[in-house]
Amino acid sequence: MRIGIDLGGTKIEGIVMGEGARILARERVPTPAGDYGATLSALVVLVQRLEQAVDARALPVGIGTPGAVSRISGLMKNCNSTCLNGRPFRQDLEARLQREIRLANDADCLALSEAQDGAAAGAATVFGVILGTGVGGGIVVRGQLLAGPNAIAGEWGHNPLPAPREAERPGPRCYCGRQGCVETWLSGPGLSADHARYAGVELSADEIARRAQAHEAASLASLQRYEERLGRALATVINVLDPDVIVLGGGVSRIERLYEQVPRYWRAHVFSDRVDTRLLPARHGDSSGVRGAAWLWPTP
Ligand SMILES: [Zn+2]
Repeated sequence: MRIGIDLGGTKIEGIVMGEGARILARERVPTPAGDYGATLSALVVLVQRLEQAVDARALPVGIGTPGAVSRISGLMKNCNSTCLNGRPFRQDLEARLQREIRLANDADCLALSEAQDGAAAGAATVFGVILGTGVGGGIVVRGQLLAGPNAIAGEWGHNPLPAPREAERPGPRCYCGRQGCVETWLSGPGLSADHARYAGVELSADEIARRAQAHEAASLASLQRYEERLGRALATVINVLDPDVIVLGGGVSRIERLYEQVPRYWRAHVFSDRVDTRLLPARHGDSSGVRGAAWLWPTP
């Protein structure tokens, strides 16, 4: 048995995963947003509750977080829930839980979960993408999460959108200080903002997708721009990594037509006469985060 935890901006979810990847217990607590000490305490309580539920102690714990742990400083960075940034989160939590923990970025957890027993099971190289309030990515090669010296493997959300058109320069401002990042175009809020610039109305990504399906012209056009940009952005990933499967997770990944439309657009930008990379929705949906975190401890 092992514990997987998904530390999100609004809630912290945890599971106990047993043999055959069965979920034996599941618990959820609200995230004490902006309060680092309270976040640590909430995690400790969650672990205690999960262990009580399965009558076990000192289980291995894996945690998916926004951002990443710097291998140089050991401090957290790149978190959109910024109370973690600059903190020795791993050391602090290990001290409280009195055990070694494993940490990974939430997009890494998605990639790992889907490569283990999800949409990309059996694939040699998997690129996992979160298209949600932000845009993240993770890479799994032959079952192993790729982790480099900068702890940013697969992070493509803050690359510039490739081959920008005139109207896409310099692009929207990003919280990271750059302009025209992939995230500013391809996150849920990015899609909403693009639609608002063209159509003059603020709609959620879900609502744009719903209206596009009902053949509302402005929403359909916004979704088509989104799909073309996603095709461009993923083509650069295919050119570098050549993954067998690209798995999409996060709120925007629920738009079904992406899986048919986006590969049509990436063809023009991939340096190959044919593209056999498959684009698939995450099989475990919102549970990919907790499952991937549990998979940070491989089965013996
Ligand atoms: Zn950025």
